[in-house]
Amino acid sequence: MVLDSFRLDGRVALVTGGGRGIGQALATALAEAGADVALLGRTRPTATAARIEALGRRVLVVPGDLATAGPDALADAVEAVVTGLGRLDVLVNNAGLIRRSAAVAHPPEDWAQVLRVDLDAVFHLCQAAGRVMLGQRHGRIVNVASMLSYQGGVRVPSYTAAKHAVVGLTRALANEWAAEGVNVNAIAPGYIATDQTMVLRDDPDRERAIRERIPAGRWGTPEDLMGAVVFLASDAARYVHGSVLAVDGGWLAR
Ligand code: NAP
Repeated sequence: MVLDSFRLDGRVALVTGGGRGIGQALATALAEAGADVALLGRTRPTATAARIEALGRRVLVVPGDLATAGPDALADAVEAVVTGLGRLDVLVNNAGLIRRSAAVAHPPEDWAQVLRVDLDAVFHLCQAAGRVMLGQRHGRIVNVASMLSYQGGVRVPSYTAAKHAVVGLTRALANEWAAEGVNVNAIAPGYIATDQTMVLRDDPDRERAIRERIPAGRWGTPEDLMGAVVFLASDAARYVHGSVLAVDGGWLAR
């Protein structure tokens, strides 16, 4: 039955930045669909871990700061998941940060940090997880892109550069790995109410301008992304490679 192909029973997923915001919803969604979940991040994801356990799934917390962890440390993190939970089927590269300032004054340290977390870590985790998944000829990678994978954005040059690159990387890896049973896709969230967008929502003019441009007429919530990640992580998406699934209330269609 088709709904069975969306289930993730017996699968193990690794989610970065699962302690809050979108990552918390994505990790919860995967657990609700049946997966055990490893959470990789720099802050202990106590609430998310409790949610996953309450669903009767196993959870593994893997500490790591994606701004400083290099390829070897990230490979070790992936290895810790395989050792701790027995396998790795799904990687969700969710963790990300944004730094806002005019391009002409964008500090080099902001540029470097955003690129490290939003792009370098994504690639190195894809590489490490890819090695495991290619070896078992099965895996699903879901990268979190953005509307700024398509558009220039306002005063966020490092973020826009990184998120454009995430889509290119997603397609490049999908090309290489599709025939090996490893699906690499992305989700492009629209404007979602999380800490990352608080500064926009706290500015009444900006908040209204964004909301009025969204065909759905409201900001998204992290929960709006739960169905998309389960789909892309599941067998239902077995022939989906290199796609970017916009979950944006229609923003890109406008
Ligand atoms: P958020 O609430 O600010 O959460 C960001 C997450 O990334 C947190 O879990 C954070 O961990 C983690 N993170 C940041 N820097 C890290 C580092 N150096 N090492 C490890 N983890 C780190 O943002 P969000 O809105 O949920 O964003 C999640 C993803 O969606 C990001 O990739 C973001 O770019 C993307 N996105 C968001 C929107 C939106 O409208 N909100 C739209 C498009 C795309 P800590 O708790 O330790 O800081």
